[in-house]
Amino acid sequence: MPSDPVLVVHGGAWAMPDDMVQAHLHGVRNALVAGWRVLERGGPALDAVEEAVVIMEDDATFDAGRGSFLNRDGKVQLDALIMDGSTLRAGGVGCVERLKNPIRAARKILSESPHVYFVAEGAEQFAAEHGVALCRNEDLVVAREVERLREYQELAARGSANDGEDLFAPSISHDTVGAVALDRGGNIAAATSTGGTLNKAPGRLGDSSLIGCGCYADNLSAAASTTGWGEPIMKLVLAKWTADRVSAGNLPEWAAQEAMNYLKQRLNGHGGIIVLNAQGQFGIAHNTPRMAWACKTAKEEEAGIERGAM
Ligand code: ASP
Repeated sequence: MPSDPVLVVHGGAWAMPDDMVQAHLHGVRNALVAGWRVLERGGPALDAVEEAVVIMEDDATFDAGRGSFLNRDGKVQLDALIMDGSTLRAGGVGCVERLKNPIRAARKILSESPHVYFVAEGAEQFAAEHGVALCRNEDLVVAREVERLREYQELAARGSANDGEDLFAPSISHDTVGAVALDRGGNIAAATSTGGTLNKAPGRLGDSSLIGCGCYADNLSAAASTTGWGEPIMKLVLAKWTADRVSAGNLPEWAAQEAMNYLKQRLNGHGGIIVLNAQGQFGIAHNTPRMAWACKTAKEEEAGIERGAM
């Protein structure tokens, strides 16, 4: 039976200051438009989440693609994962430095490789061999982030910034991006893309691109994408944990909220999650002051409604 499409996107969860709200809302709404274009013409959920994430990778507002946080060495290092709920095929890249849209490379891995995950130069080589153009790392660096890193490292050198804790406070930006979609064929998919955390050690990989941690999709349970402090999310394998609650018969809305409670109670973690099942039911939850998200369903499309909030 054909399904009514659904698309949910997010652009990070943290204590976003008022003056950054508009840029985030604008970004998630643009992503929604791009992903919806695919779904409304009957295209696959996999394409929809890829196109939505590309828009946010290209928007320097977010911690994904150009404009991402810089690592300790002043470089952008990106992670991304995409997963198809109908086949469980997935493609992930980690610690890539020369890809403008890591989600495109992740998609190539999903579609054209027997493997699931590539890192660093090997991932870039795979991407280049499969038609994804490489860029210079400098092309991904923006002045705002150079300044942010300089300020942080200065504070750290003076002993005012604690390298372990302050960096991961909810007041520090978590602008990872992600999308989950349901297509007319009844299939769901998920994608997540990030620049990780500010001043991270080179080679550090977060939750975002790890299957079941920052991203997961299975038609039999749910599609999920997370944002937030990656280490606790990773330890709890949170996207899969949430999908399992859905397959046990719970609504995605409940499972999303429970995931945030679990993250807080078990490891004092913080972040946000979007969850969608193949019946089109979805949930959006965060335990941070704000989360940038937007969603659209076929019914709302008919009524001319589009939702998005902080
Ligand atoms: N979860 C991401 C990471 O730890 C960061 C974020 O969402 O802001 O890499």
